[in-house]
Amino acid sequence: RSKNIGKNTIQFYQDSMRTDMLRRLSVEGSLRAAIKKKLLTLHYQPQICLKTGKIRAFEALIRWTDDILGIIPPTEFIPVAESAGLIVPLGEWILREACEEAIRLNKFRNDILMSVNISAVQLKQLDFVKLVKRTLEETGLKPELLELEVTETTLISSFDTTIIMFEELRKLGVKISLDDFGTGYSSLSYLRKLPIDTLKIDKSFIKDLDRECIEKEITESIVSLVHKLNIEVIAEGVENGKQLAYLMKCNCDNIQGYLISRPIPAIDAMKLTDKNFMAYIGVQL
Ligand code: C2E
Ligand code: MG
Ligand code: MG
Ligand code: MG
Repeated sequence: RSKNIGKNTIQFYQDSMRTDMLRRLSVEGSLRAAIKKKLLTLHYQPQICLKTGKIRAFEALIRWTDDILGIIPPTEFIPVAESAGLIVPLGEWILREACEEAIRLNKFRNDILMSVNISAVQLKQLDFVKLVKRTLEETGLKPELLELEVTETTLISSFDTTIIMFEELRKLGVKISLDDFGTGYSSLSYLRKLPIDTLKIDKSFIKDLDRECIEKEITESIVSLVHKLNIEVIAEGVENGKQLAYLMKCNCDNIQGYLISRPIPAIDAMKLTDKNFMAYIGVQL
């Protein structure tokens, strides 16, 4: 009997591995075609400055709906793009598209940043800084209005080279933001060595801020430490007024999350650009 269970278990694993592999292959094939046909789009989610109530930046987030497979989230297809060698051309398109949109979104203002997610694979390209420089020149976006979001995983394999690259990018005027802070091998001590402008506290910490928990203390400590290092803080995944109230209390600089807006198409983002969220924030508190 136990022999049977073993056999069934192995059969189960083989079946599910096969299913995973087939799914991956079909996502990869469809993604390749979708990139070629330019079927991917960017949505934009605002980050709000809690001091002024104004939009600090829009984060560009990629969206893809396949004719047959339906909506495929970036958490599924970005890793596929990375391993299939598609992220470099795709990332190049994302950067250009976001820079072009940043110019349109700044029609009535001249200070809204565009925040673009950059994969670790892109940063490994030796000519990445050149690509950023060229894209800024060709689109006409001021370097000061571009922010690149990178995660801690980018730092694992080549800490020193990555730091040099960040410094080169900052010399151009581009800002560097550390995304998903707290999910990786985060050490507060290496933060002081990192040439970054902004830090995003991961949404897994923000989630519990509406009740008594240790995440409250952690968040408060991160904000105060990061301020001592002259780094700006963003809380991501803010969904309710209680979380917002706590973040205000610990002096967090900016918030991003469904409470303010979901990621939306450019045409809708445009309508938010001259809006002040101060009154709205007041109502939530
Ligand atoms: P991320 O950069 O940390 O983006 C934040 C994710 O949280 C986004 O998911 C966003 O839609 C979601 N989010 C925003 N506000 C809330 C909230 O209040 N509650 C909750 N539960 N979620 C919220 P999305 O768009 O599915 O993207 C997931 C990840 O995929 C991103 O995480 C990023 O790592 C990657 N990604 C997305 N677009 C790009 C891109 O253009 N290039 C690259 N390289 N990666 C991207
Ligand atoms: Mg991000
Ligand atoms: Mg994030
Ligand atoms: Mg993330």
